[in-house]
Amino acid sequence: MTLVPGFTGSPLDRRDAIRHDAGALAAFAADPRALLLDLDNYEPHTGAAGELGWIPLPPLPDDERIFLGTLGDRPRFVRLDPQAPAARRTESLMAIIEALPAGEAATYAAARSLLDWHARHRFCANCGFATVPIRAGWARQCPNCGTEHFPRTDPVVIMLAQRGAGEEAEVLVGRQAAFPPGRYSALAGFVEVGESLEEAVRREIGEEAGIRVGAVRYLASQPWPFPSQLMIACVADAESDAIILDAQELEDAKWVTRAQVRAALARTDGAAFLPPPSYAIAHTLFSLWLEQHKQ
Ligand SMILES: [Zn+2]
Repeated sequence: MTLVPGFTGSPLDRRDAIRHDAGALAAFAADPRALLLDLDNYEPHTGAAGELGWIPLPPLPDDERIFLGTLGDRPRFVRLDPQAPAARRTESLMAIIEALPAGEAATYAAARSLLDWHARHRFCANCGFATVPIRAGWARQCPNCGTEHFPRTDPVVIMLAQRGAGEEAEVLVGRQAAFPPGRYSALAGFVEVGESLEEAVRREIGEEAGIRVGAVRYLASQPWPFPSQLMIACVADAESDAIILDAQELEDAKWVTRAQVRAALARTDGAAFLPPPSYAIAHTLFSLWLEQHKQ
């Protein structure tokens, strides 16, 4: 059982200062030890131990090279194809991600979200002019109106409503129709403009399951690279019990006990539900709730 959220813990040193230093960046690109992340249409090639593959950095135009940072004192880049379509999430990719060692998935996630953002943001949101990469690939700028555009991260709250205390405590889980058979997870939803995290948690639980919640506690977060969310995991104190399902959002929702969550995470035969995959923060959230909410 891991308490470290998936897609976190990259060993890369991002070297932010280098992004603004054209001379240092050129020296890194010319370094014979420089490496390029080995991707095939957004899917990483992996080595014998399941680690990310890197190849010697080939000659590339400046605007087709994103500087990811350094690792083991070697400059690391990823290729930005100006014509690449936006990324899609495939079953083969998810199988690769499930097998990546800790930290490697985080490096991949950062590179993927950046590439995908470039593919989806080629035009200025202010004036519609075609934009160009700047800051070593960590932003774009409009040559017409000068506006700078930065990679976006969309906040999503993911949460467990809790009722009761100690070993008798229960949490609310739900399943979407698209989930694999038997899977239940924490409820989740995008934070809307003009809303705090606490307000988003209360609104989402109320909308999706009709449960009223009071105090909200933050537990952990993770970047989610499909395409670029920040998942913010919380536990909220339930102030009502009766579930009123929003059938547009959820196929089912139910209260589960600590023993049932423990059995689900352990993948015990006959467990009350199938848990989310280990790289999803919902999995971490269940684990943290078992660990931290013993009273
Ligand atoms: Zn513009």
